[in-house]
Amino acid sequence: MNTQELDKKYVLQTYGRGDVEFVSGDNATLTDTGGKQYIDFTSGIGVVSVGHANARVNAAICQQIGKITHTSNLYNIAPQAKAAEAIVNASGYDMACFFGNSGAEANEGAIKIVRKHGERDGEIKRYKIITLKHSFHGRTITTVKATGQEAMHNYFGPFPDGFVYAEDIQAIEALLDDHTAAVMIELIQGEGGVEPQDKKQVQALEKLLKSKHIPLIVDEVQTGGYRTGEFTASQVYGITPEIITLAKGIGGGVPVGVVMTSLKNVLSPGDHGSTFGGNYLSTTAVCSVIEILNELKVSGELDKTSAYFNEVLDNFYETNKKLFTQKVGIGMMCGLRVIDAETLGSIMSNAKENGVMVLRAGRNTLRFLPPLTITKEEINEGFKALAAAVSSL
Ligand SMILES: *Cc1c(COP(=O)(O)O)cnc(C)c1O
Repeated sequence: MNTQELDKKYVLQTYGRGDVEFVSGDNATLTDTGGKQYIDFTSGIGVVSVGHANARVNAAICQQIGKITHTSNLYNIAPQAKAAEAIVNASGYDMACFFGNSGAEANEGAIKIVRKHGERDGEIKRYKIITLKHSFHGRTITTVKATGQEAMHNYFGPFPDGFVYAEDIQAIEALLDDHTAAVMIELIQGEGGVEPQDKKQVQALEKLLKSKHIPLIVDEVQTGGYRTGEFTASQVYGITPEIITLAKGIGGGVPVGVVMTSLKNVLSPGDHGSTFGGNYLSTTAVCSVIEILNELKVSGELDKTSAYFNEVLDNFYETNKKLFTQKVGIGMMCGLRVIDAETLGSIMSNAKENGVMVLRAGRNTLRFLPPLTITKEEINEGFKALAAAVSSL
């Protein structure tokens, strides 16, 4: 049986996979089973931030697993401690980290921290967590309930109590009460359709919450790891949240999730844990990925790549205004609003035929999350293929 047949027979069918199968990659270029090459504007949904088959990350991982891969968190783990230091230093925030294995798990950790923080905050149990409509926070029972999309709340209940959805940032204030434990937001909604929040509104929210001693959780699972130009989007927005969650881009393809928080003493030994979280394999990858991205940021290369990608995307948008209504996003988390969902579907399939991989977000957004190491040549080639993909529409 070929891969597709094996998948259909032995893997639960929870994804609409399409028919492509990649066998290798090199930076932002992918090769499929037939030897056809594609430019990757998706980086595995913002994961492969330093490109496919990154030689430095691979060398670091291979060297580490040649010595030791896993010991459990009952012992000290050098790369975990170093990864935490690298994350905290790159962010500039006075925080400490907990390591898990995914974005949803990072958000679960954040929720546990604010629920315990709310518990010890006096006689009133603060348990409510306000999130936004159209948000996306994960697929576990709790994070699916934290996700402000009704369509995702089918079948799986009863859910944990205490999640309240605000229409937008400005609607949050009216929902705060004595039971509010935290507010959790994405600064740029990713799955919701590449929707950046307004900077002034976010700063006003931060000030309001600080005055009421309500922690702000920023879900940076998609925006973290220099995706928006700084290590966190919180830095871009000029705010200091109490908790930031990270995952996708910081492991370069190795599963990892991180909760970082200034509430360093809320959890005590025994309150939280993870078997795999922070092991030698994943945190060695994190150290290597952050080192590479720090260098790109300091040299100015990261900002140059982002500026060039956006320049070419702007041109593409300007020349195809009959298909697109708006360009959105920050840094290398960008999107184009497509006139309708059907046209977006055609663009997606034509793009694949022409050798460029792109993403959908929300109902009508064509989303771009290229590797942050993408070269000028790869950007040019990708948009050439995309121009061919839309030429018949
Ligand atoms: C992808 C994503 C998640 C979920 O991450 P998983 O690793 O799939 O659990 C949570 N929040 C945001 C903002 C995301 O983009």
